Amino acid sequence: MGCDGGTIPKRHELVKGPKKVEKVDKDAELVAQWNYCTLSQEILRRPIVACELGRLYNKDAVIEFLLDKSSEKALGKATSHIKSIKNVTELRLSDNPAWEGDKGNTKGDKHDDLQRARFICPVVGLEMNGRHRFCFLRCCGCVFSERALKEIKAEVCHTCGAAFQEDDVIVLNGTKEDVETLKGRMEERRQKAKLGKNPQAHQKLRQGSPKKPASILERRKPAQLPKVQRQ
Ligand SMILES: [Zn+2]
Repeated sequence: MGCDGGTIPKRHELVKGPKKVEKVDKDAELVAQWNYCTLSQEILRRPIVACELGRLYNKDAVIEFLLDKSSEKALGKATSHIKSIKNVTELRLSDNPAWEGDKGNTKGDKHDDLQRARFICPVVGLEMNGRHRFCFLRCCGCVFSERALKEIKAEVCHTCGAAFQEDDVIVLNGTKEDVETLKGRMEERRQKAKLGKNPQAHQKLRQGSPKKPASILERRKPAQLPKVQRQ
């Protein structure tokens, strides 16, 4: 019951447990998902990004993929939802102080150790080793355990203070059901963007664009600007 009631499991509780043979495949899958780039299969290293479906990548691998679309054929449709670098979010990950894998001479093998993760939840300290659900916020890229997000119940990011909505929360390496939900939300978002039904995004675009300074717009269309709403 320890995991449900909000208590933080101790390290030995996480590490030990029945070691069964059939678990090996599952463990290998977890190690792959949480430690290796979905695209290049190389070990994840900063800058690390995640897509809207919650998969992890090295940013340089995504950039290479976008530059050379022909590689998409070889990889099937696994990453066809990434059309632009804007479709991925650079993650702000919290280092695990107990991680030693990057120190000294490492030739890959140590990364296969499920018992110690490179990153942790900055709020409750859970290790990001595939055994706990983790999420990131699309608005800022900060990464938390799902437990922390549920416990805090805030509308601003615990780490950087950015405001977020439920739509911004993306489960990392989630279940099939999670991915289906995320896919639905992604398609909805893209549809909205296409139809221009997101007035906030438009406003930001106009204000932030260096090519269209507000002064030019004002000079060109002075009569059409609403008088009342400019506060
Ligand atoms: Zn944040």
